[in-house]
Amino acid sequence: MEKHQKFSVWYVLLGIWFVLILQNVLSGAFAVKVIPYSQFLNLLKEGRIVEVAITADKIQGKMKETGVPDGTVIPFRTVRVDPEISTLLDQYNITFKGEVESTLLPTLLSWIVPTALFFGVWFFFMKRMMGQQQGFMTLGKNKAKIYMESDLNVTFEDVAGVDEAKQELVEVVEFLRHPGKYSELGGKLPKGVLLVGPPGTGKTLLAKAVAGESGVPFFSMSGSEFVEMFVGLGAARVRDLFVQAKQKAPCIIFIDELDALGKARGFGMVGGHDEREQTLNQLLVEMDGFDPKAGVILMAATNRPEILDPALLRPGRFDRQVLVDRPDKQGREAILKVHLKNIKTASNLDVVKLAAMTSGMVGADLANLVNEAALLAVRKNKKEVEMADFEEAVERVVAGLEKKNRLINPREREVVAYHEMGHAIVAFSLPGTDPVQKISIIPRGIAALGYTLQLPTEDRYLMKKTELLNRIASLLGGRAAEALVFGDISTGAHNDLSRATDIARSMIKEYGMSEKLGQVYFAREKRSPFLNLMPEGPEAYSESTAELIDAEIKGIIDGQYEKAMEILKAKRGILNKGAGLLLEKEKIEAEEIRALMELSE
Ligand code: ADP
Ligand code: MG
Ligand code: ZN
Repeated sequence: MEKHQKFSVWYVLLGIWFVLILQNVLSGAFAVKVIPYSQFLNLLKEGRIVEVAITADKIQGKMKETGVPDGTVIPFRTVRVDPEISTLLDQYNITFKGEVESTLLPTLLSWIVPTALFFGVWFFFMKRMMGQQQGFMTLGKNKAKIYMESDLNVTFEDVAGVDEAKQELVEVVEFLRHPGKYSELGGKLPKGVLLVGPPGTGKTLLAKAVAGESGVPFFSMSGSEFVEMFVGLGAARVRDLFVQAKQKAPCIIFIDELDALGKARGFGMVGGHDEREQTLNQLLVEMDGFDPKAGVILMAATNRPEILDPALLRPGRFDRQVLVDRPDKQGREAILKVHLKNIKTASNLDVVKLAAMTSGMVGADLANLVNEAALLAVRKNKKEVEMADFEEAVERVVAGLEKKNRLINPREREVVAYHEMGHAIVAFSLPGTDPVQKISIIPRGIAALGYTLQLPTEDRYLMKKTELLNRIASLLGGRAAEALVFGDISTGAHNDLSRATDIARSMIKEYGMSEKLGQVYFAREKRSPFLNLMPEGPEAYSESTAELIDAEIKGIIDGQYEKAMEILKAKRGILNKGAGLLLEKEKIEAEEIRALMELSE
């Protein structure tokens, strides 16, 4: 679009120039020759004046050109000098009239014709430009990026930690390599493979790896690229994509972020979803229309399968769904190894420990982590990336950047130190909480003034009730310490409180962990926020139940606060010592914390 606008400036200049030229030429045709009065008298005598029109001070008329045999007639004008001109004209027998001939017509012609022409040309170009934007045939074409094997050197080696997904896709690769083998046996391959999983788990990477492994052309497009401003364009693009793909079979069509295009019909924002619907319909038509034996495999990826139109998931469409899940500890280890290949690491690097520290991270996070560690090492002028750099990188990702130069007044620092120590002591004293790795009162990120870094040692899929309760207690430990030491509380605990309350609410409403309420599920079904179009209805339980739920949540929180307080009262000496140490050193590591905790009261 920008390019076109730049061009149109040139069109304007060209047009103006064109008008000027044309105006010159045309007015030349109507040019009036101005002659002196004496010459007019001579011409009169020579009989070359054809006709005249006279006003008070001007004489206009037509005269015969000299030297032209036929005697072409040209217009002339002169200033009237002789008041008795009429007798003279009579003498030479020339028709004359008393008014000036209108010059309107020539003027009109000399301006309007070029202007009209100019605009004609203008509109012609405009139309052609618009045509380039809207033209159905020219538009969709070649918009899909086509990767051939040579420029796609991603293989299954590069994707780690998602072995189940890989196994599913090996078959697809086999088929693409030897399409004949499958059709001979009459086996039917899925038409569409949908990769489903959280963002950053490697879906796009996997699709590229399939193309790279099988060495076939790879048509890749993002779902959002289909959704266009003009109705009908997206559909045209889909049609064109399939036409191109069929010519290049065997090949892969990959639609990334399918949810942008495949949202359930009938939902969505006000207006403007007509286009998406048309595009989606076209995709469904194309999917039904092509024969997998032709060797075209359709792949797509989404991280929001719950909002996809059910029609897309019907048999014969995306009938194979491959889950690309968050990696477990071993998976993270494998992914880290893939990315560690690219950087120079110290020989004592403990990848297993690193994998344990990064619970919950996905492939993209891990790739980022490795890069971050390398950057930190460079900043310190190190020759290789060491474990310490990785540890710092994990901290950074978890807690945000350290803000060393944010000034905190000594009084506040003291509160923060006791608060963090409170978390650490309670967490340390209770089983089932994540071990405390580090306590720091260096402000980080936007809001945190200090933090207690607790990292899990293993992945957890199930939590016991006592573990959840202990977790709540350690979250409340910060506030309890403040109350115990200063007899007053601060705003610093708001994040702790919201997390503790969330856990307590889930325990009651989702996990059936309240004796009074029993094993009943009270939470509304969790729906994608994008689909949450239903007006807020009444909760699925009575008002008295709601009161009971609130009371139970408060009961849990109060009970755990008491527990935290008890622990801190019993370990008041350690609390004081730890806070003092923290104020002095700003950071305490795991070993020091352990040593501190083993001090006898
Ligand atoms: P998604 O499409 O699932 O959101 P991507 O495939 O775009 O995720 O992943 C982004 C980047 O993260 C990849 O380019 C790769 O560097 C890294 N990555 C993600 N998952 C993996 C994995 N399983 N193995 C190795 N690297 C991964
Ligand atoms: Mg992706
Ligand atoms: Zn806190």
